[in-house]
Amino acid sequence: PARSTADLGVVGLGVMGANLARNLARHGHEVAVFNRTLARTERLMDRYADEGTFVPAAELADFVASLRRPRVAIIMVQAGPATEAVIDALADLMEPGDIIVDAGNTLYTDTRRREEALRDRGLHFVGMGVSGGEEGALLGPSIMPGGTAESYNRLGPMLESISAQVDGAPCCTHVGPDGAGHFVKMVHNGIEYADMQLIAEAYDLLRGVAGMSVAEIAEVFRTWKDSELDSYLIDVTTEVLSRTDPATGGPFVDAVVDAAGQKGTGVWTTQTALELGVAVPAIAEATFARAASSSAGARLAVRNASLDAGAQPPALDEPKAREEFVAAVKDALYGSKIAAYAQGFDEIATASQLYGWQVDLGAMARIWRGGCIIRARFLDDITRAYDEEPALGSLLTAPVFASALEAVLPAWRRIVATAALAGVPAPAFASSLAYVDQLRAERLPAALIQGQRDFFGSHTYHRVDDPEGTYHVTWSAPE
Ligand code: NAP
Repeated sequence: PARSTADLGVVGLGVMGANLARNLARHGHEVAVFNRTLARTERLMDRYADEGTFVPAAELADFVASLRRPRVAIIMVQAGPATEAVIDALADLMEPGDIIVDAGNTLYTDTRRREEALRDRGLHFVGMGVSGGEEGALLGPSIMPGGTAESYNRLGPMLESISAQVDGAPCCTHVGPDGAGHFVKMVHNGIEYADMQLIAEAYDLLRGVAGMSVAEIAEVFRTWKDSELDSYLIDVTTEVLSRTDPATGGPFVDAVVDAAGQKGTGVWTTQTALELGVAVPAIAEATFARAASSSAGARLAVRNASLDAGAQPPALDEPKAREEFVAAVKDALYGSKIAAYAQGFDEIATASQLYGWQVDLGAMARIWRGGCIIRARFLDDITRAYDEEPALGSLLTAPVFASALEAVLPAWRRIVATAALAGVPAPAFASSLAYVDQLRAERLPAALIQGQRDFFGSHTYHRVDDPEGTYHVTWSAPE
């Protein structure tokens, strides 16, 4: 009989799984490893056996038998049917109290369904978000585990030992029950979409309105690193814009087809927000912008139609005017970024309320400070804001962000107006500004919409002097 000594196991030794297993072994954990195709397991052992203690298995049953109790098996295979198949096979081999972890990018509703089914069989099921890609998995990811508190007691210390660490704190915490971990990871990706789109719009305005060269824009982003915009994505942007394409000798960015790809988490974040009734316009616009960029047929047709767009680009020939424009774009980017994060956190807060997850929002910002694509200095401000006021209705109202918004709003308005006049699309800048103005407004035209709905559909309305009462007008049809 197999000795049951492994601290935990990893199933699926693809890019992510192999690196996660190595990271665990390097941190002194005894790691059982299994992969459907044995060759991958053998390759891991051939190359990396000396990095720590691995227990390879050729059969899933032997893998399970090698785990100490309560058993912990982390699944890192493609989301969907593959993950479902592995969960089913593992569940049949495990015993009550054991823990199955899905570390793939799974939709949180699937996680909730699976958690409930496995709970009925006495098993803990943990949906776990892992951020940071291939390199993060090996060197320190941000980890967002859901599931029961009991499962986290067993799992948490191991995960915290392998996660990214920032200021001595692990980028891993128990997010909340059932699908909370996968939900937070999904919104993290949605925020990432928004952040990337906002940076792309800033670049496009500097190029298309101010007429700056790619090299000049790279320098602008380099200087923005020394500001509240300092982030990994700003670093990445500077690197990409600084690269010369060896084949053309021109900017690398000009050699790339301008159609953005996606793997679906932006769509999920947007769809989920629509279902929950939460406004996340920056995330939605970022997702739509990728779709619009990839709509080759429509783009070609409209371009060929050579519309007279009535564009009135401003003159920015004077160095001073250009300098002011660059500063204003920076303000617009910062304001939009605050709005985008406020939207993402609102989506998490809304789901947390609905499902009773009690997600600690400040802790989410804290565990995104390392290992993640959206890691940034800015996240410290978010953590502090929620520490000071855990029941914050919106991030926009945290003192640090409210005063930042007041400082940037005038320039942000000018940039959105200028973009529209110049005919340079800035959908995430514009919709984020509208979001702030909607939340700020004393009265919204929603009152008119209620009137329209009552007219054509007898949908009723509430009165300002009687918000609890329900009213309906007996309208007569228009002539
Ligand atoms: P990968 O390199 O393509 O590896 C896929 C793994 O899944 C292989 O070990 C494969 O086994 C296994 N597999 C596929 N179908 C299976 C099935 N029906 N039964 C058993 N095993 C099956 O994938 P990856 O990049 O590591 O990604 C794995 C998961 O991590 C995905 O959910 C992904 O969304 C998530 N993720 C990826 C990243 C990233 O940057 N790549 C970041 C975060 C999260 P075989 O060797 O037998 O084919």
